[in-house]
Amino acid sequence: MTSSLGRLPAVLLTLALPAGALVATSAAPAAAVPKKPTARGSGGAVASVDPYATQVGLRVLKAGGNAVDAAVATAAALGVTEPYSAGIGGGGYFVVYDAKTGKVRTIDGRETAPRKMPRDAFVDPKTGEPYPFTPDLVTSGVSVGVPGTPATWERALDRWGTWSLAETLAPATRIARKGFRVDKTFRDQTVDNQERFAAFRTTKRLFLKKGRAPRVGSTFRNPDLADTYDLLAKRGTRAFYEGKLARQIARTVRKPPKTKSTTLPVPRGFMTARDLKRYRTVAGRATQVAYRGYQVHGMPPSSSGGSTVGEALNILEGSDLGKLQRPAALHRYLEASALAFADRGEYVGDPRFTKVPLKDLLSQRFARERACAIDADQALPKPIAAGDVSSYDGKCGPSAPATAEPAEDTENISTTNLTVVDKWGNVVEYTLTIEQTGGSGIVVPGRGFLLNNELTDFSTVYEADDPNRIQPVKRPRSSMSPTIVTKKGKPVLALGSPGGSTIITTVLQMLVNRLDLGMSLPQAMAAPRAAQRNTADVTAEPAFITRYGAALEAYGHSLVPAGDAFTSQAEIGAATAIGIRGRRLVAVAEPDRRGGGAAGVVRPRKR
Ligand code: GLU
Repeated sequence: MTSSLGRLPAVLLTLALPAGALVATSAAPAAAVPKKPTARGSGGAVASVDPYATQVGLRVLKAGGNAVDAAVATAAALGVTEPYSAGIGGGGYFVVYDAKTGKVRTIDGRETAPRKMPRDAFVDPKTGEPYPFTPDLVTSGVSVGVPGTPATWERALDRWGTWSLAETLAPATRIARKGFRVDKTFRDQTVDNQERFAAFRTTKRLFLKKGRAPRVGSTFRNPDLADTYDLLAKRGTRAFYEGKLARQIARTVRKPPKTKSTTLPVPRGFMTARDLKRYRTVAGRATQVAYRGYQVHGMPPSSSGGSTVGEALNILEGSDLGKLQRPAALHRYLEASALAFADRGEYVGDPRFTKVPLKDLLSQRFARERACAIDADQALPKPIAAGDVSSYDGKCGPSAPATAEPAEDTENISTTNLTVVDKWGNVVEYTLTIEQTGGSGIVVPGRGFLLNNELTDFSTVYEADDPNRIQPVKRPRSSMSPTIVTKKGKPVLALGSPGGSTIITTVLQMLVNRLDLGMSLPQAMAAPRAAQRNTADVTAEPAFITRYGAALEAYGHSLVPAGDAFTSQAEIGAATAIGIRGRRLVAVAEPDRRGGGAAGVVRPRKR
């Protein structure tokens, strides 16, 4: 991948960045940085949920780094300022458009199950019954997967980067050491997790100083994480996957550092140091579907993002949504999503353990047949049964899809997403997570980072024919959907979002908003969202219900407000995106959701 400056020595890099950007000298917190949801200009762009992280990415681009260097640096900064959503204790999916080859490639950095994880790991040996999902399973060692994020960063830099891991970690290390200003989102997320965080000595010490969540405007420092980043900078990610830190992670999973006072049960996990040593990322090709003259590239399994977004777009391809009245277009969007989710549940899991019929799921002919089920005037009863990938001819038959057993959706809302474009035209779309906000709630002693609870993305009840059943060393199915859209081989749009299984619907809805419904990218981002995941009800933001609820209920859709037991927010997703038109870039983050995100460009457009 191109970079005009090639690999910069660290000392030169320090000089290349704005004063004090890399050298932690004073005890003052890193300056608060302004955040803007939309930025237009050229020369490169970054969008993330956090102003510090976006600024780090922009500085890397300004100092000559490419999009991959900037993406890793931005992600490392998010590990500091958004520690409840992502960090080195988690995993994610990294999608790259390489301007030199014109190809879209992926890194699967998903967490894996430990080798000794039994199929009944989610059953309480004391009762013989499955652990209650909350609080038992989510706050546990048993749900911690082997983290993939450090290995993802190293692999991305090795393959496409021009900076070293040490160079990309340096700005984040400085923020961890100097501190950042606590905003309302950080405080609210801490308060929401107070009981879980208080259950562990290590977590309490880090995030609940004096037993309380940090105040808005106070400075939050994480010197332990700075030291951990320093260790990785010096010794590479081997220092994470082998040796003392690896042993410590495994021990923490097997015997979480519970406080005496907690009443939470905290089931123990099965991870060993060998699991960490054996962790590998998986490099691959993106999924691809043609849609309205564009190519939409997504994340292949173990994520269901690429196949589900792709299938839904293929289902929609036959209707000219832009010509329909808005409720009619939204009705089709919801139905296409439900159909694609039915197939996701039936067929998608980790492809190293289950045969995923990806070609069929992404075939236009299969989608054409699935689209036959949609009634233009009436919502189908949900859940809809999966299609048959072993026999389809693209024609409408007499039989409508049968109703299936309802599946429980246990995915929660956390995670973070970032988008980067550089001046050479390289693009990175990266979604990373520790699963739930606050992950498992367990901080590794003295290391400053939370461990994920990603294995809760496995089906909670074991069934032998379920592609997402628990198996040792397997990756749980994800919904993360980092997506890059090209036209005639050139990137025009990149986008992604957090939000559990609503990630898929958020990305799909934004694509429909932008490519079909005539919205600008900032409008496509801000528009109220609704998610139909093959369930009886459509989950929707209040503004969506106000605007379209009555019209969609006339089709038979039942709309319920978004929000779950963990968050008071009735919102869906926290997306980022960048639109590309030649040299002109528009970087877009959320104007309001999750407190609003931060977009920036290297050379802002003059007004
Ligand atoms: N664990 C989820 C997934 O991989 C992401 C977490 C979230 O956004 O809630 O799909």
